[in-house]
Amino acid sequence: MHTDERTPDYPAGTETILTHGGRWPDRQHGFVNTPIYRGSTVVFPALDALEDMGLRYRYGRQGTPLTDGLEDLITELEGAAGTVLAPSGVAAISLALMTCLSSGDEVLITDSVYEPTRVLADTLLARMGITTRYFDPRIGDAIGGMVGPRTRAVFLESPGSLTFEIQDLPAIHAALAGRGIAILIDNSWATPLFHRPLALGADLVIHSATKMFSGHSDVMMGTVSANADFIKPLAATHRTLGLTASPDDSFLVARGMRTLGVRMREHERRTLALAHWLAGRGDVEVLHPALPSHPDHAVFARDFSGSGCLFSFVLPPAPREAVAAFVDHLEIFGMGYSWGGYESLILPTKPHRIRTATPWTHSGNLFRVHVGFEDFEALKADLAAGLERYFSSAGD
Ligand SMILES: *Cc1c(COP(=O)(O)O)cnc(C)c1O
Repeated sequence: MHTDERTPDYPAGTETILTHGGRWPDRQHGFVNTPIYRGSTVVFPALDALEDMGLRYRYGRQGTPLTDGLEDLITELEGAAGTVLAPSGVAAISLALMTCLSSGDEVLITDSVYEPTRVLADTLLARMGITTRYFDPRIGDAIGGMVGPRTRAVFLESPGSLTFEIQDLPAIHAALAGRGIAILIDNSWATPLFHRPLALGADLVIHSATKMFSGHSDVMMGTVSANADFIKPLAATHRTLGLTASPDDSFLVARGMRTLGVRMREHERRTLALAHWLAGRGDVEVLHPALPSHPDHAVFARDFSGSGCLFSFVLPPAPREAVAAFVDHLEIFGMGYSWGGYESLILPTKPHRIRTATPWTHSGNLFRVHVGFEDFEALKADLAAGLERYFSSAGD
């Protein structure tokens, strides 16, 4: 297996935070894990208590000790002022955007964004009188020139989840500084273990906790963390919208977090090995920002301390039958949406169908790969056989 040039680097203290953060055994009879509080009603012993708005737990929608612990853990990892949980990653994206935008405002969104984020902007936000313009993911400080009188937020996703462009967050932050524009970023791919956007100028950081945080493909959840300027409006919007996360789902995500450090390291090692092996074949174009051949590698190496479990590759143009020949007979890789679990996945997609600001010019077929924990040689053999089928079907 290919070994990476450098050992992945977590910021100091990360692994201890993952292990001990957000749980308090002395508050629950010594039990290591905070139990699930499955509850709506909280009863008050007397009128004084009912009228005491400072009481932390007054009703189930406002959270429980378990959800508080999970929020604290993510807050510590992101270096944030606070975090809220939402019932899915898309709910977290909606919440973050609605925290910053009002009718009449404009948001600028990277053209490489996760497709449901685009759907939200083009439908619901549009209906509420919020306009969207999409920008080249590699725009860097030229974003300053796109700002209009009504621009209130910029939405990044780095890397883009199908096409893997890295956005130059420090340059974007510098270009927008002092202009009253919030910077939002979807950090699901890198996690706070490999990328801390708040320290680079972002205001709100979003995760699909469905992916790496849970790690087992068994739960849907999202999170939004904010800096000191945005935590109050974020918490208020969260409360107003009633986006409470389920206590049971919170337990699964809290459990997943405890092993995030070892999982990220192992995912990174395997993913890089597979990406290097594919790139070395010569007939496959690999889109992975940790590869020196990637156009954004310098920005990636500066701002990220490691890489995730997901990348894409492009094969030379071939008809649909070749794509089917590849994916229909894989023995280990499953075909499906999502990622971040223990099992390997592959997804043929068509980015040119989605983009509007910067056309996707690759003419070949794009496949997104999530590398799980199966035997590595078996994963390689499965892909090699699939490529063989693709190329022989394409040549027919
Ligand atoms: C999956 C995903 C989301 C949405 O998360 P859900 O939990 O599925 O709603 C958001 N952003 C990225 C980058 C994702 O991959």
